[in-house]
Amino acid sequence: MDTLTPLSNPTSPLPRLVRASRRGPVLHETPLAPAPDILGLNLTRGCGHQCAFCSVRASPNYPGDELVLFTNTVDLIRQELSGLKPRAVYLCPGSDPFPPYPTVQTATAEVVEVLAAHGVGSWLMTRGDVQVSILERLRPLADRMRFTIALPSLDARAAAMMEVNAAPPEVRLELIARLKDMGVAVQVALDPLIPQLNDTPEALNPLLDALAVRGVNSLTASYLFLRQNIVEQMRIVLPGDIFSAVITAYHDGPVLSSTGLAGARYLPRSRRQRGYATLMALASRHGMTVKVSALTNPDFSAQRPITQPAPSLLAAYRKSLGMVSA
Ligand code: SF4
Repeated sequence: MDTLTPLSNPTSPLPRLVRASRRGPVLHETPLAPAPDILGLNLTRGCGHQCAFCSVRASPNYPGDELVLFTNTVDLIRQELSGLKPRAVYLCPGSDPFPPYPTVQTATAEVVEVLAAHGVGSWLMTRGDVQVSILERLRPLADRMRFTIALPSLDARAAAMMEVNAAPPEVRLELIARLKDMGVAVQVALDPLIPQLNDTPEALNPLLDALAVRGVNSLTASYLFLRQNIVEQMRIVLPGDIFSAVITAYHDGPVLSSTGLAGARYLPRSRRQRGYATLMALASRHGMTVKVSALTNPDFSAQRPITQPAPSLLAAYRKSLGMVSA
């Protein structure tokens, strides 16, 4: 097994790393992208972090105790970028670009370099512990990258339960500081907010203090949503009383779907509005702005249009290569 030592001290056995050749296209549309000219790319199938709330992990075709690293990603990117010109590529809609495996982190660095060589930016979202050597390798591309660090809580015990093999909160704070020092654009995602667990002023204020000290001024926020498999994942890690309180809070919540995201049960709308308002008020005192995820709050506004990156262009290009659409 290929593991990274001793950066994160994973608390649960890591999935076995296996390598496989990808079949089909590598770049694809993703509802996580905020604009039509941002495409998505998954370097792996599966993720080593094993977060309890993870909807990808809860999907029926999740590879379980394996993390599949695609070996031909760079070749495919080169091929596809000969006919496509996205502004940036989002890494990774269905996994994390920096899980605790050196081989995967190196593969991510290679992809960022290849994208940059084609004039394409990399938008990276992670809960991981990025190796210093990888950060140094990426330093010359600081202006080609945008990082989102997912950090829903400063509480190390809650993080160890909910984001089992992700980097501890203190390590993610260090990463934020290092990226800012490198001149990389950084925002922080309070994702997921969980009622009474991490959305109270007592939980939020220390986190906002720590982020403000590191110069963070832009946050995104999104409440947890539930599907049956996510409930089962959470039942395993949360103490009984906390689990019951969280699930009870969702009893009267609506089942919603939005473009690109399958149906799930959400907190009642008024409870989410109250929670986001509390967060925004606290954040503004720290000089921060908060953007609420439209994807996971489809009942807050008119349905967000699907972010289709020039569909006719993408489809025509793939057809010309005889590729099956993702
Ligand atoms: S880091 Fe992201 S993809 Fe990986 S398990 Fe956690 S939520 Fe899922």
